[in-house]
Amino acid sequence: MKKNSLDISKKNIDDLKSICGKGLWVEDIDLKKQYLTEQRGYYKSSSQIILKPNSTKKVSNILRYCNGNNIPVVPQGGNTGLVGGAVAGYVSNEIILNLENMNKIREISHSDSLITAEAGVTLHKVQSNAESINKIFPLSLASEGTCQIGGNLATNAGGVHVIKYGNAKDLVLGLEVVLADGTIFNDLKKLRKDNSGYNINQLFIGSEGTLGIITAATLKLFPKPVERHTILVALDSIDSAIDIMNQLKKLFFDKLSALEFFSDFSLEIAMKFISKLTPPFNENYPWYILIDIEETIETTETLELIENFLYKNLQKDIIKDGLISKNLKERNELWQIRESIPYAQKSEGASIKHDVSVPLSNISDFLVKTLQKVSELIPNIRPCIFGHLGDGNIHFNLTKPPDIEDDDFLKFQKEINKIIYDSIFQYEGSISAEHGVGLLKNEDIKNYKRKSELKLMFKMKNFFDPKNILNPGKLI
Ligand SMILES: Cc1cc2nc3c(=O)[nH]c(=O)nc-3n(C[C@H](O)[C@H](O)[C@H](O)COP(=O)(O)OP(=O)(O)OC[C@H]3O[C@@H](n4cnc5c(N)ncnc54)[C@H](O)[C@@H]3O)c2cc1C
Repeated sequence: MKKNSLDISKKNIDDLKSICGKGLWVEDIDLKKQYLTEQRGYYKSSSQIILKPNSTKKVSNILRYCNGNNIPVVPQGGNTGLVGGAVAGYVSNEIILNLENMNKIREISHSDSLITAEAGVTLHKVQSNAESINKIFPLSLASEGTCQIGGNLATNAGGVHVIKYGNAKDLVLGLEVVLADGTIFNDLKKLRKDNSGYNINQLFIGSEGTLGIITAATLKLFPKPVERHTILVALDSIDSAIDIMNQLKKLFFDKLSALEFFSDFSLEIAMKFISKLTPPFNENYPWYILIDIEETIETTETLELIENFLYKNLQKDIIKDGLISKNLKERNELWQIRESIPYAQKSEGASIKHDVSVPLSNISDFLVKTLQKVSELIPNIRPCIFGHLGDGNIHFNLTKPPDIEDDDFLKFQKEINKIIYDSIFQYEGSISAEHGVGLLKNEDIKNYKRKSELKLMFKMKNFFDPKNILNPGKLI
């Protein structure tokens, strides 16, 4: 793909300001900081101006102007992405177009179970609007207070409820997107079935701002559960975790709404980080699974089933220990453990992080063999493994041994990446399960994605954005 590297003239900047309108752009260095700070601190971002249009028409006018003047544009949502996708200035002199002022709920319908939100609405606002009509929008991420629905769709976000409700792509009925040349593609349909042609909407989901700028979406809502049972179980092997997962899927089917797992070290650092909580069990075990089972009607049957399930597996020694939350406070505390892990990791020094997936049947082999290889390279490395077991999505994070300096550990990044990616390839997985590709993995996917897929991706990019003005250098 051709790289853009043009300077943006003062005239261009003045024109863009007037297209955006008064108060809808930021030039001040201090005010720009929040848009230029990247979550993981891997990349330094720069953009002469941050454009913050408040209507689809303005987004369209900006793109038409930028396309005509070869000015590359980085679409940006809540800037919570973890792969440098919303960073500007890396491959060319880009400007950031942030969607935060496109923040209206256009429609919400109880009878159609849907909500139409503009791209800059935060995920949390979509969730609370759904709750206001006694429904839920089930996408749930630890970043939900800040990330935006446009960013969620552009990254095809996952999160903890994928096992029941699917990824972001499964939650969309229709989209409104502005294409590189300014054309407004309006497909905000409300249909649950429509076999009248290509599903163009889905092309934009997960495209990381490289094919178009999402300006609004019609999303599916679901019945609000009346009860959630949260269970934590301790296990001594990942094989037992897979066994438990399969039993739960069979027993509870669509009531099973979360199935998260984490390693001993993950629990240890989370407990240190939260400090005010007492450890859930008296002993330590190699693996834990956190389970949510939800009810949309009042019943006592499910709790009995859960208790029997735990009892049976404790008897068989598959589950080593287990507990069921008795109230909302206990439930929140269990989830706090899981959600604290990424933050707790920061206090332990440098980590090398991977967000990968493998078929469920390969998880055990992948983990055992890959951990063995990285431990041979760096003895005492601390695997902080956690993730969405039900989807085969593993946050394969490796924290430095306590006696090695951060910089010395990070020198192994390339070698470790190769071990993990080669292993992922061998076990038929993906090197990016839910965070996307961005700048972080755009070179790696060339080695670990099928050539035929890459070829078609390049053709699509060229078709939608022949001048390569949309988020150049990201994803492909
Ligand atoms: C604490 C924490 C926990 C997280 N947990 C999860 C998790 O469980 N699952 C998960 O999937 N992710 C997770 N993430 C990553 C991140 O929150 C998601 O990728 C999220 O969907 C990004 O949304 P955003 O609005 O912040 O997008 P940004 O970071 O602003 O942008 C992300 C990408 O989308 C593009 N983009 C943004 N808005 C648009 C738009 N309107 N149109 C076109 N392109 C656009 C950008 O160009 C960029 O390539 C987590 C992040 C943090 C910090």
